[in-house]
Amino acid sequence: MIDFNNTNTAFAIKTDHDIRRAFFMYKVISYPWLVKIANPLIKIASTIRFPINWIVKPTVYAQFCGGETIDDCQPVITKLREGGVYSILDYSVEGSEEESAINQALEETLKVIDHAATNENIPFTVFKPTAFAKSSALEVLSSSEDPDNDSLHEGEKFRKRVGKLCERAFKHSIPIMIDAEDSWYQEFIDQEVMENMAKYNKEKAIVFNTYQMYRHDRMERLKKDHETARNGKFYIGAKFVRGAYMEKERERAEQMGYEDPIQPDKDATDRDYNLALKYTLENIDDFAVFNGTHNEESSRYMAELMDELKIPRDDNRCWFSQLYGMSDHISFNLAKEGFNVAKYVPYGPVKYVLPYLMRRAEENTSVKGQTSRELKLLKQEKQRRKR
Ligand SMILES: Cc1cc2nc3c(=O)[nH]c(=O)nc-3n(C[C@H](O)[C@H](O)[C@H](O)COP(=O)(O)OP(=O)(O)OC[C@H]3O[C@@H](n4cnc5c(N)ncnc54)[C@H](O)[C@@H]3O)c2cc1C
Repeated sequence: MIDFNNTNTAFAIKTDHDIRRAFFMYKVISYPWLVKIANPLIKIASTIRFPINWIVKPTVYAQFCGGETIDDCQPVITKLREGGVYSILDYSVEGSEEESAINQALEETLKVIDHAATNENIPFTVFKPTAFAKSSALEVLSSSEDPDNDSLHEGEKFRKRVGKLCERAFKHSIPIMIDAEDSWYQEFIDQEVMENMAKYNKEKAIVFNTYQMYRHDRMERLKKDHETARNGKFYIGAKFVRGAYMEKERERAEQMGYEDPIQPDKDATDRDYNLALKYTLENIDDFAVFNGTHNEESSRYMAELMDELKIPRDDNRCWFSQLYGMSDHISFNLAKEGFNVAKYVPYGPVKYVLPYLMRRAEENTSVKGQTSRELKLLKQEKQRRKR
């Protein structure tokens, strides 16, 4: 049984200063009203160009981001590896729909893939699909059987960009994960990802799609994809997450009067999450599995299932992952037990990753018990070090 309460292992790579900063950050985040007012204040500061780097960079940015550039992230990558954990560089500049910004994001993501090929501490690359097309076109292409010409044209550009990223990843043999976002863009993205899987996953899983198990139709989708892959003789790279946009999904479904795509309750999400892990691990010869969660039970469940099914702990087809700055007790304790663990390390210029940081703060305020769990563990470690 893995002991996630071992704070000695969880925080071994953290200095006393790191621990104090993390404790301070989680304490601040534990006040929802503070997070609520911080968001508009930061937006106003950005609009009037009031300098905020001096306060953001040593605090929330240092807690959740690796640095402003790929090179800046090297110390973080090296340090994580000292604790047995790998890194996945995540260029976290949030989508702008300008052609120039899309091309810039494409160049940066290609750079990350090239860099990963030269750095053995980076086993995966990742991108957000909405960074590479106008969202309105993704929505039309996902829902309409008769899309307009502009959307078709935009879809073609998206297809080329995603194809280029997957091809580069294939060339370097570095797996690439495509994040999942709002359900109304997902159908078209799923089709594109499946096409690239069929093309590049013949020998092993290079291209990974993301299954958000808070959607009640994802278990069925997973099985359908499995059948397609079997028939097409390719592997499925499956990244599992619960899903980050529940409130938005429910609200839109209600406003527009269509069936809510989200599971009726948390238990149903948890049930399908475990079912998906079980299904893919039991069929591991057809899959590579990436378990992206901060949930201790889901992490323990997969670890125990791997042992039960006699899948070696360091099998390169099975990975656990958490975000940088969060749930170190899961990452480092799993790594110590010999499992493959990689953290998403977001990076980018401070002002551009602010939306990412605000979402982390809001998520930690709203995900039940997460902040108090981090605070409890950090306090425990402070006391242990004092002793
Ligand atoms: C490495 C990594 C990569 C990620 N990539 C993505 C991504 O590509 N796309 C994405 O959407 N998210 C992504 N996430 C975020 C993820 O989807 C979750 O929002 C986050 O991890 C919290 O879920 P959990 O499994 O950690 O734990 P938990 O705290 O156990 O679960 C919270 C989640 O359960 C679900 N939930 C809560 N209440 C209910 C309810 N009443 N009914 C139904 N479901 C409910 C929601 O999804 C909620 O976020 C990623 C997370 C990690 C760690």
